[in-house]
This record gives sequence, structure tokens and C-alpha cells, in this order.
Amino acid sequence: MSAFVPLLDMEQAERLPARAREVVEYRKSGLSLNHIQGCPLDCAYCIRHTYGLWDQRQPRALMPDVEAVERLVSHRYFQAHVTPVQLLNRATDPFLPSVRPHTLAVVPEQVPTAPRTTCLPSLGTS
Ligand code: SF4
Repeated sequence: MSAFVPLLDMEQAERLPARAREVVEYRKSGLSLNHIQGCPLDCAYCIRHTYGLWDQRQPRALMPDVEAVERLVSHRYFQAHVTPVQLLNRATDPFLPSVRPHTLAVVPEQVPTAPRTTCLPSLGTS
């Protein structure tokens, strides 16, 4: 098994549902970065039910980690040292064996500029 998740090409990424293509999502509690999506764990409460990704059981990356962080820090609501950041908390588990290297790669990229960073499971209520 690969240590990293496969990267979707542009055509594959464009076929995803609209919300799945929203890699940086504004939430009342901060910004959520979700450039990797897909999960085999089948939690009944998973929010992937709500936007057409339930059948994607294998994690896939929409873009490289560095590009995802660039999207995050250039988001119009991102303020360095102010905006709380949630990582990979919507459509995958950040500590799946194949996802964990991406989680650990992204943290050093943005932690210095984020006051709080969380990696929590996806709950359909946020
Ligand atoms: S993404 Fe999170 S909530 Fe959804 S199935 Fe995986 S671990 Fe469960």
C-alpha cells in the first residue's frame, strides 16, 4: 500500500460534486482544508452522505499538499495568527495510514500562522 494517496487529474477532480471541489471551506469556527477526500471507515453520521461522496471509500487528493496550503493562506477570510484552521476534517480521517503523511506535511506549513489547528472526524453538524 502506498504511503500517500493518489492524486486526481484535473478531469477527475472536475467530475466531483461542487462541494467536494471546495477545498477551503468557510465555517463559523474558522477555515476547513479538505484537499484529500474519501474514507473506508463507514461512520453512519459521516457528512460525506450529504454531498455525493459516500461511495468514495478510498482517499484521493485533489491537489498536492503545498498547493492546498497556498489555497488556504490566500483565502479571503484567512488571517495569519487569527484564523482557526481545521485540517482534513470533512471527508476523510486525517490519521488513516495513507492520509497521515499528508496531515503531517500540511501542519508545519500552516501552524505557524494559525492560532488553533484541529484534526477532528467529520460530523454532519458543522
Ligand atoms: S470521514 Fe470521518 S466520519 Fe466519515 S467515515 Fe471517515 S472517519 Fe468516519
